[in-house]
Amino acid sequence: MSDTIFAKIIRREIPAQIVYEDEHVLAFKDIHPQAPVHVLFIPKQAVATLNDLADDQAELVGRLALAAARYAKQEGFAERGYRTVMNCNADGGQTVFHIHLHLLAGRSLSWPPG
Ligand code: C5P
Repeated sequence: MSDTIFAKIIRREIPAQIVYEDEHVLAFKDIHPQAPVHVLFIPKQAVATLNDLADDQAELVGRLALAAARYAKQEGFAERGYRTVMNCNADGGQTVFHIHLHLLAGRSLSWPPG
């Protein structure tokens, strides 16, 4: 797959406000936050879209969800609540083709999304 801006962030070729990292996951603040808290959780292994996730890559998405939930607890907004979103392709609003979990919090979020 082609290189993305998130691959460059993983390799530290462009800056990001990194808030969490482990062997499999990197998390950083979104540069255009849509809520007081807006963090992106990405797998270090590149997968373009959710459509491209293979059966043997299922744990990648689980790791993103677990890291996001742990971050919410650590930052103290888990009980109040938050939203996680994975956009896929054009109608989903995906702009970076390296899967990522958005974590949004810090305000009451409306539903349905726009
Ligand atoms: O789901 P979608 O692909 O649209 O999300 C990509 C997100 O990556 C956007 O919210 C955008 O603001 C963010 N971004 C970022 N840092 C970059 C480039 C994009 O946080 N250098």
